[in-house]
Amino acid sequence: MGRRDAPKDGDRRVGRRALLIGGTAAAVGSAVLARDELARAWWRVPGVDKPRRPGEVDYAGARWVAASEANWRRADRPADYGIDRVVVHVTQGSFASAVQVFQDPEHGAAAHYIVRKDGRVTQMIRELDVAFHAGNRDYNERSVGIEHEGFVERPQDFTDEMYEASARLTARICARYGIAVDREHIVGHAEVPGTDHTDPGGDWDWDRYLRLVRRARTARA
Ligand SMILES: [Zn+2]
Repeated sequence: MGRRDAPKDGDRRVGRRALLIGGTAAAVGSAVLARDELARAWWRVPGVDKPRRPGEVDYAGARWVAASEANWRRADRPADYGIDRVVVHVTQGSFASAVQVFQDPEHGAAAHYIVRKDGRVTQMIRELDVAFHAGNRDYNERSVGIEHEGFVERPQDFTDEMYEASARLTARICARYGIAVDREHIVGHAEVPGTDHTDPGGDWDWDRYLRLVRRARTARA
């Protein structure tokens, strides 16, 4: 579950924090300190690490498999970098080969998610962190990268299950960060400035994909 998917959990965290601060404030005899601390909403302050638990995913439907730490950079998004893009990729290989290269510290690249042909979703990097997937520092910092198992030149790899699962994932990401569901904000790797990559290629059905994302978003709302 993502942070903004779990307001109740967030409230409990504040509650514990408030108790701690309350104790400190009582010790120094200042209730004002406690109020100031609380008003600052500490988990939104840039540079303050949000709580992380091993194996935690940002999308309820995903299974966690960690990428090599060499293929991403620790960050505190969206506090330090706003997220306003989803970048769609195609792996140009099997799911297993994508996992293998994302776990290879020599590879230098990895995406947050991989969606398989059967619709299963794997998360390899937290959305908090900057994944090296777009080949463009600005786009890496501002986006979530989603890989799709298959080959650009094999449109039969883009299954119904894949489109639907990926659209649900993108809909959740867009809802969480307030990203508009349009082709300006949901882009292909090929559209990232400066890239020489062609994925997801001409056979990726953008009209269908955006329709599914909108439907998933409406269904959830
Ligand atoms: Zn790509």
